[in-house]
Amino acid sequence: MTVFAFWRRAGNERSVESHVNRFDASSAVTIASVEQLAAMRPRYLRMLGAAFSVESLADRLVPVQLEDKSVAIFAQAAYVGSDQADELVQRIQQAGYQLASPERYVLASSLLLALVRGQVTSDSLAGLFTPAIAPSRPALVAAFHDLVEWGVRHGASDIHFNVHLAEAKSEVNYTISGRYVMPACFRGMPTSTLLDMLSVAWMDIRGGNGSVFDPLREQQGSLTMHVDGKPFVLRWSSMAADVGPSVCLRLLSRSVQACATGLDSLGYMPDQLAQIRRAMVSESGAVIFSGTVGSGKSTSLAALVSSLPSHRKVITLEDPVEYLIPGAIQNTLVRNLDTSSHDVFAAKLRSLRRSAMSDVLLGEIRDVETGRAFMDLVGSGVNVYSTVHAPSAAMIPVRLSSGFIAVPADFLATPGVLRLLVFQALLPQLCDQCAVPVVSADARHVGGSEPIKGLAWQPWLELVRQLYGRSPGKARLRNPEGCEVCRQAELPELYGYCGRTVAAEIIEPALSWVPARSAMESAVMKALDGQVDLRDVESRFHAFETEKMMRAARKRLSGGTA
Ligand SMILES: [Zn+2]
Repeated sequence: MTVFAFWRRAGNERSVESHVNRFDASSAVTIASVEQLAAMRPRYLRMLGAAFSVESLADRLVPVQLEDKSVAIFAQAAYVGSDQADELVQRIQQAGYQLASPERYVLASSLLLALVRGQVTSDSLAGLFTPAIAPSRPALVAAFHDLVEWGVRHGASDIHFNVHLAEAKSEVNYTISGRYVMPACFRGMPTSTLLDMLSVAWMDIRGGNGSVFDPLREQQGSLTMHVDGKPFVLRWSSMAADVGPSVCLRLLSRSVQACATGLDSLGYMPDQLAQIRRAMVSESGAVIFSGTVGSGKSTSLAALVSSLPSHRKVITLEDPVEYLIPGAIQNTLVRNLDTSSHDVFAAKLRSLRRSAMSDVLLGEIRDVETGRAFMDLVGSGVNVYSTVHAPSAAMIPVRLSSGFIAVPADFLATPGVLRLLVFQALLPQLCDQCAVPVVSADARHVGGSEPIKGLAWQPWLELVRQLYGRSPGKARLRNPEGCEVCRQAELPELYGYCGRTVAAEIIEPALSWVPARSAMESAVMKALDGQVDLRDVESRFHAFETEKMMRAARKRLSGGTA
């Protein structure tokens, strides 16, 4: 045995002993990027997870062999000094491997995952496959800004980064006019660039859980950006999906102009607008909007509250603030599952009660806590404006009295508590320039010869006429080719459409529990006026055939004949 080997052996024994006293995690070497990994000496050779039967730990902690045959541990920061790491060091030595020096490295979790998935290999590191040169931080910041800017300029409500770790390319999608679309210019983004971009973007997150972007965890936070000189808040919400992280960024404008939208321009029918205005004259009680995600209920709520006269003191409690409302005192409540944020909510509510306001916008009633706040405010004579998830206007009180929210049904039935209940959906609005009149509709122009399988155009239109008692003569259909007005966004999915319009149903409990017109009926009226495509009414609500069957079933139930 050479002196050198003896020394090394003694060193190893010493290190085994020292592990009993715990490894000092701060002495681990950090590798934050692919370049740093490529620059590491001795070079990284291969993963040894299988040799030690620790593949299941690989996304957190993995033994790796280096070029000089020594073995090191690559780990996430939280695991580098863990008991599992200590035990792994012992097993590496017991198996006769030489422990590398330094023995442990902290890897960015995205990088560790890329190694585990075989996306980064010793070959790709050595440049045999000419790896894409990872862009610099300013380049990543600029690329992220470009993605957001594109979304803002095209009126997107959300940007979706769908990272597929096992694939070289990943996707960036946008939600524009309620449709999930993938612009050609962002198709096939390199997965590693996207991950690096997200890591860099996360550095500017405020109020986020986690100091670094972690592809394996659900993370939330928000960041502020300026696009064309206008402020935007991006609400970050990520999900650790099976194939990789999926990050959704909700784009929220912080310009006062963003709220200039009046109630009139949202798409309520004239009689519905009059009904809303009339109900707004009376004081106290709650005005509640319902609808699914993306039904425009927050927009309507903000427009309604913005229309309140300036002599009313308006306070909002939102999670987060979605629109700036001139004159209102707005409060963002970030509520997580921890108890401290419950305390924050309770404290806000206490000071709210003492602030002598007349009107409160309560962003959403969604749990027992917000349900109690709702009762408390309405019970003390305040005007409350809020939203709730419910499938129809009539279901709003049912939802509020459910176990999730637990507002007592007798409280809701008290006269004056529920002033106005609105259920709404948003439908794509036809481009006025190129929509195809249904009477002249040629299969080639409207993307298909049949509206639904097995039912030809004429019987289908006849069914609409029978169900709604109006001729579909003025109805129009979307032109999938579009025209120069509606092709601006360069998104074929949106050709033939210009914006969206509300289809609503409204109940005034003081008068009747039956709306004058259901939301689907409102949508059909708009279609028969040529504003929306009849086929979009079907896909948003249900097929006209189903409507016919539902009516027949109702008739049977009420004792009539079908
Ligand atoms: Zn057009």
